[in-house]
This record gives sequence, structure tokens and C-alpha cells, in this order.
Amino acid sequence: MAGHVWREMVVHCAAEQPYEACGLLSGRCGRAETIWKMENADKSPFSFSMREEQIRKVFGQMEQRGERLVAIYHSHPAAPAYPSPHDIEHACYPETAYLVLSLAGQQPVLGCFRIHGRQVTPLRCILY
Ligand SMILES: [Zn+2]
Repeated sequence: MAGHVWREMVVHCAAEQPYEACGLLSGRCGRAETIWKMENADKSPFSFSMREEQIRKVFGQMEQRGERLVAIYHSHPAAPAYPSPHDIEHACYPETAYLVLSLAGQQPVLGCFRIHGRQVTPLRCILY
């Protein structure tokens, strides 16, 4: 993921506290170059969801840029950087990386995963 994407993601997640923040990352060849901050329709400290119409709009803008969805991120204001049972149940993009940014400690911690069925596989997340 590009350095500016990482920094913007941390700022976005911190700004949305105590609620969870969520968004999408797009790019080419699996490299996240663009961040799309999304509205957490749940307005909850424990879950997030995105509205269909906002997702459709952003997917259209990604396509115009010649980019594809690379990752879905959300924050855990007080929980570890690991998908919650709720996250696992609602994950429906098996090809996409799920990023969980935990703000529970002094420093933000990022977890990267693939969620397929109910199986969670850790991924290596590369900053460049
Ligand atoms: Zn979560």
C-alpha cells in the first residue's frame, strides 16, 4: 500500500472514533494507490456496513481511473487487529484483502487478511 494511503487511513480511522471507520482501497496489480473513505452506515463502535449506492458510485469512479478494488478496511477503536465474528460472517469478497486497523493501543496496528467462507488467512501487508 502506498505511504499516503496508509497515513490517510490512520487519520480517517482516528477521526471517526468512537465509531468504526470503513473504506475501500483501489489500485493496479494488487497495489493500493487510492483510498475511498466510506460512510459507516451502522454508526457503531462494534460494526460497520456500507451503503449499496455509495459502493456502486465508488466502483464507477475506480473504473474510470482504471483501478480495481484491492482491499476493504475498517477500524477497531477498542479491539485487536483481527476480524470479529461479525466481520467474518459479513465478508463477501473472497478475492479482496480485509484490513483491520486497531486503535486500541498507543500505536495503530494493522492486520491484513483474506476471508473465504469462514476461514481467515493472514496476509503480508507491504508499505511502499
Ligand atoms: Zn471489525
